Amino acid sequence: MLATLREVLPEKGRAVGAFDVVGLEWAEAILEGAETLGLPVILSVAPHLGGPPLEALAPGLVHLADGAKVPVALHLDHGESLQEVVRALKLGFTSVMLDGSHLPLEENIRLTRLAVEVARAYGATVEGEVGAVPGGYGGEVSHEPVAYTDPLEARRYLAETRVDALAVSIGTRHGLHKGPVRLNLPLLEELGQLPVPLVLHGASGLRPEEYRALVDRGIRKINLYADLALEAAYLLKKVEAEDYLGLVAGMKEGLKDLAMARMRLWWGG
Ligand SMILES: [Zn+2]
Repeated sequence: MLATLREVLPEKGRAVGAFDVVGLEWAEAILEGAETLGLPVILSVAPHLGGPPLEALAPGLVHLADGAKVPVALHLDHGESLQEVVRALKLGFTSVMLDGSHLPLEENIRLTRLAVEVARAYGATVEGEVGAVPGGYGGEVSHEPVAYTDPLEARRYLAETRVDALAVSIGTRHGLHKGPVRLNLPLLEELGQLPVPLVLHGASGLRPEEYRALVDRGIRKINLYADLALEAAYLLKKVEAEDYLGLVAGMKEGLKDLAMARMRLWWGG
C-alpha cells in the first residue's frame, strides 16, 4: 500500500531501503523482495539519471505500490526545482526531495520551505539536504572534495523548514565509479543528535560493517542506485535465456536478491 516517508521510517538503529528505479521491472523486483521480508520500502525516481520520463513511469509505480502487501513510499529523489516537486506530487508521489544542497543556506531554506508547504497540501513528506554529497553517475571517478554537513547549519535548516528527513554529507559519494570514501563517523555521531531521521546518499559499495556503523549512529534511510545498475548490467550479460523476457526474468531475480540482502542488513534483526 502507498505510504509516506514518515510511515516507512523506522526507529533509530534501523534503516529502510530506498531504491532508485529506472524501470518497472526494477520496481517489481524490489517490491517482491520487500514483501518476502515483510519490510516497508521506498521506491525512488531520480529524473537526472535519465530513465523514462516521470509521467511515463509514475502511473505504473503508483499501481505497483498500491497493490503491494507492505507499506511503500513513492519518493522523488534529488528534485531540482519546485516545479519538479509539484509535477511529482500531481503524479501521486507520496514523498519528495528538494535538493537545494548546492545553494547558499538561505536559498536552500527558502526553497525547501516552499516545497514543504506544497507537499503538506498533498499529504506528502519532504526530504532535504544540507552539505553536499559529491559525485555523479557518469563514467568518471569523482575527486570532488566532500562538502560535509555543518551541524549548526543543519539545526537551523531543520528549525526553519521542518522537513521529515535530512540527507547528510559525511564522506560518501554518488556514482558508479566513486573516488575514495572515508566515512566521518564522529560528525555523524553529532548529527545523529538532531531531532530528525537522517538519510544516506552515495551508499553503494560500502562494507556490511560500514553500513552497520552508519545505521547505529542515526542513518534511517539508505539510498541505493549504483550497485543496482552494476548488478543489472552484469546479470543481463550473464543470464542465459532464449529471449528478452527470459533475460528480464533473470535480471529481476538477481536484483531482488541484492535488494533483499541490503534490506536485511540495514533493518537489522
Ligand atoms: Zn543522492
